[in-house]
Amino acid sequence: MQGIIEVVTRSPEKLISFINDTIATLSKASPNPAHFAIAEMERLGLLDAVITQNVDNLHQLAGSESVIELHGNVYRFKCTQCGERMKFSRHDFLEFLGRAVTGLTSHSFENLIEAMPSCKCGGKARLDIVMFGEQVQMIPESYRRIEGAKVVLIVGTSGTVYPASEIPRYGKKSGALVIDVNPRETFYADIDDYFLKGPAGAVIPQLMEEVRALL
Ligand SMILES: [Zn+2]
Repeated sequence: MQGIIEVVTRSPEKLISFINDTIATLSKASPNPAHFAIAEMERLGLLDAVITQNVDNLHQLAGSESVIELHGNVYRFKCTQCGERMKFSRHDFLEFLGRAVTGLTSHSFENLIEAMPSCKCGGKARLDIVMFGEQVQMIPESYRRIEGAKVVLIVGTSGTVYPASEIPRYGKKSGALVIDVNPRETFYADIDDYFLKGPAGAVIPQLMEEVRALL
């Protein structure tokens, strides 16, 4: 948030173009075959939780229910006073952003703050996503869920962003088999039991297909 505040104070037009780009990206975003296959694993009782650095809500859109979001969720707001969280639908959120942009074009940064949703407590809310320098969310919950897992599936992450990068390592230490899916080599070569090279959208549905055949 601090970063955005600095940008908007310095040059509101940069924020406006950032928000417009965000609206364009989010309104087009939809789950890929990997998101759907992962949701199916959960439905079949094969998957306990998705731990993700993504903030785009696509796992939930695909049907995943147990999603641990380390960097928050772009459709959620958090009260700056009491911490209460407010989740928006994509439609309502994009409409809100559109209004905020209109406000910024003709008004000031104060108007953007004013345009943010209000909490029951009277406080103003901000986006519930982890900005640079802020603490990652739900790390203890991630460790709790991965402890004792039989399999850890690492999907599309190179393993360089700390502290999220340590979570699969903890799974391995507590006895999990590690399957790493990535088009490129990752920093998990030392803990991988299997490295499946390729894009998640192709590899994960194929993996699900193989698993289905065994059920
Ligand atoms: Zn509040």
